[in-house]
Amino acid sequence: MGKIIEKDKKYVAGTYARFPVEIAYGKGSEMFDTDGKRYIDLGSGIGVTAFGAADGEWQAAVTRQLSLVQHTSNLYYTSPCADLAEMLCEKTGMKKVFFSNSGAEANECAIKAARKWAAKKKGSEYSTIVTLKNSFHGRTVTTLAATGQTNFHVHFGPLTPGFEYIDAGEELFELKAVCARCEVAAVMIECIQGEGGVVPLSREFITELAEYCRVHDILLIVDEVQTGNGRTGKLYSYMHYGIEPDIVTTAKGLGGGLPIGATLLSDKVSDVYSAGDHGSTFGGNPVCCAGAVNIFSRIDDALMDEVTEKSKMIFDTLTGKPGIKSVTGLGLMIGILPEKPAKEIVSKLIEKGVLCLTAKEKIRLLPALNIPTELLAEALDVIAEVCAE
Ligand SMILES: *Cc1c(COP(=O)(O)O)cnc(C)c1O
Repeated sequence: MGKIIEKDKKYVAGTYARFPVEIAYGKGSEMFDTDGKRYIDLGSGIGVTAFGAADGEWQAAVTRQLSLVQHTSNLYYTSPCADLAEMLCEKTGMKKVFFSNSGAEANECAIKAARKWAAKKKGSEYSTIVTLKNSFHGRTVTTLAATGQTNFHVHFGPLTPGFEYIDAGEELFELKAVCARCEVAAVMIECIQGEGGVVPLSREFITELAEYCRVHDILLIVDEVQTGNGRTGKLYSYMHYGIEPDIVTTAKGLGGGLPIGATLLSDKVSDVYSAGDHGSTFGGNPVCCAGAVNIFSRIDDALMDEVTEKSKMIFDTLTGKPGIKSVTGLGLMIGILPEKPAKEIVSKLIEKGVLCLTAKEKIRLLPALNIPTELLAEALDVIAEVCAE
């Protein structure tokens, strides 16, 4: 162990503070490093490998498509792309889907759709997109502008203009103030802020916001990049709140490990795009879509019940334990606020064979949706032990 780390540090751009682990392979919710040490994986590649590493069913779907054709470009039609779009629409009631390759791109597409819709419907001055302080929407120059955490903005200005940030207060004061000052096209939220520290928005805020947007003909965009595809115990997190967003974006878990982003357009905006407005060379790639069709078809009620049960097990095991200040989140998207620095604890957990994430000052858990209960229990005991030290 160490050769890969050395080469990576020499040649790969230094954008990541990687942990000193060289992953060789994985199976389900277990990972193995180049020394053969085994880890229980509670991060699933930041909520991406929805059914764990090297999942057999997903692998079969992907390799079958690989053996047919791996890429066609968007000049032609392929069935995985059409099938996935149909499934996404039928399960959500949305009307059209644009496929890209990442969460940031899914959000870019949503922002462009909102601006074009508002320009045509209300006038081109209606270009403002309102997002939340403490949000995270991606790393491109425009999605950085959408990200309401100024520490991410440093060094990269000027960012795309036309973004305003508000607090998720219950009375919508700040939103009303922005609407008095600016011509607003859309509001974009995460129902549970992931990178912001696994912070769930209040039900009152979400429902009042949705109502305000509906009454004022402002589009509501819900960023489900992290919360989507069964992560919170429902297909999409907005479904917990009885709201109907105009645009939903998703990525991470949808592809089961291959890159895919999707922007779901409701009836109101389904025809906003015409040929030439937007595009992506890799978007809708048949191999990624074939894998996603498999993943998406397995997110059913039985799995969601399992996610909810395992979530309860996490809350029951860790809430109020020594060294743990709080446990937040929904489904298998969990934030644990430890008394000691989260980074320190995550490093200790790695030594003890458990892989976790961090989000701000919290330990973040995003395990595979099908993590075996025994493995989860084993890992939670280690977390409780390390937090108590
Ligand atoms: C991860 C994430 C993104 C960015 O996704 P990328 O695939 O890294 O571009 C956007 N929004 C949310 C809520 C995310 O969690």
